[in-house]
This record gives sequence, structure tokens and C-alpha cells, in this order.
Amino acid sequence: MTNPPKPLIAGNWKMNGLSGSGLALARDVAGRAVAAAGFFHCEVLVCPPATLVHAVAEAVGSALAIGGQDCHAGAVGAHTGDIGAEMLADAGCTYVLVGHSERRADHAESNDTVHAKAAAAHRAGLTAILCVGESEAERDAGRALDVVADQIAGSLPSVAAAENTVIAYEPVWAIGTGRTATPDDIAGVHKFIRETMVARLGGAGNAVRILYGGSVKPTNAAEILRLANVNGALVGGASLEAGDFWAIVEACPAPG
Ligand code: PEP
Repeated sequence: MTNPPKPLIAGNWKMNGLSGSGLALARDVAGRAVAAAGFFHCEVLVCPPATLVHAVAEAVGSALAIGGQDCHAGAVGAHTGDIGAEMLADAGCTYVLVGHSERRADHAESNDTVHAKAAAAHRAGLTAILCVGESEAERDAGRALDVVADQIAGSLPSVAAAENTVIAYEPVWAIGTGRTATPDDIAGVHKFIRETMVARLGGAGNAVRILYGGSVKPTNAAEILRLANVNGALVGGASLEAGDFWAIVEACPAPG
């Protein structure tokens, strides 16, 4: 029997934050983590824009984990404007998001592309947070589980394991909309993802962290975070306000 994984609360700042505001936010969250040391039950991660990764990493030290929001599939080369996974690691990241629905939509990222990015993250020693989730039309058509199954099968490299991979279930229609999936829907999809990971990894699949994302706020975090197979949250809008983000961290129950 595998121990339940330590939950992860991850803030995705998206394209927000300049050196003044971003560093102030990071220091505020890090200060809360230091002050509350031992009194919260999760790992806390912030994913600033690439321009701030290094400065945020220096500012927060070991109080928070740092992640990138995307990486290129290649290690180095002629890819103007792109950032490699090893560069993120060099700048202080230990995590990187891959396959966020905004990347899939804005940059036409396919499962193959996301697979290559996750593999690049693993080669660089980063933990890949693979984002999956159905659109509203797909949910209405009863295809939510099929879509999630396809995304996991198509995007997850063969070396994926609990130590280097987190799955974030983010129904696209719930991201940035103020709408959240119902507890029953979340629990149903997370159970399906757990079964998928156990089918793939055996008992070790129980140690893979499965995050929920989609309009998580201080007001709904406790209810979501205590659902079975929910091992944390990926938080967009509410991660831009330190008090709101920290209230979500505090809402995280101890694993088990
Ligand atoms: C996200 O960007 O991954 C996200 C879940 O955003 P929000 O919390 O704003 O819905």
C-alpha cells in the first residue's frame, strides 16, 4: 500500500507580474510559508512568467518551489523566443506546466507536442505538471473521460512516474470563468485518472499527485481539496493575491 502523496498547491501567474508586483507577491507568499512552517500540509509552488523565474527563485529561497509555465521540446538550438527545460532548471525551477489549455488553444499544441515537452522536462530533471481537461462541448457530449484518457495516453512519456509527474485536471470551461465542476464531477474524473495511472504504473500510480484546477478560490477550496484523489490544486486568478492563495494553502487537509 503506497502512502498518500503530499498535496501540492500550485499558483499559475500566467502573463502577470512585473519585477515590482511579482517580487512583492512572491515575498508575501514566501513570508506566509515561513511564518506558518509546520502548520500547513502541502508543498507550495508558484509559476511566475519566465521573465521573473530567476528573481523569484532568489527572493523566496527554499520557502516555495518554483515552476515554469511552459518549455520547448528541444534542449537547445535555433528556436527564437523559446525557453528550454534545462534553462528553467538553471534559473531555479523544479517544476514546469505542460499542456495547459491556454497553450493548447493559443499555440495549437497537440498531444504529441505536449508529450515532447514533458519528455524534455524529465530530461532536465524537472517535474512535469501535465494539464488535461475537456471543453464544455466535449463534456456536454458525454466525452469528458474519453478526452482525458486520450490526453494522458498521448502526452505522457514512458518514463513518467510519481516522482517526476503530476497530473492537473482542469476542465477548460472552468478556467478563469468563476465556474467550477461539481464535487461529484471532480471526484469522478479524479477517480478515473487514478485508475488510469494505476493501470499504467501499478501500485506506484497511487502516489501520483492529481490536482484540480478551474476557478479554485478560498470559498470553494476546502470542499474540493477534501475529495478523494484530489491531491492539491492548480490555481490561476486567486494565486495573484497572496491572502487568497494562502487561504487555499491553509484549506488543504493533511494527506490520508
Ligand atoms: C489555470 O490557469 O490553470 C486556472 C485554473 O485558472 P483559474 O484558477 O483562474 O481558473
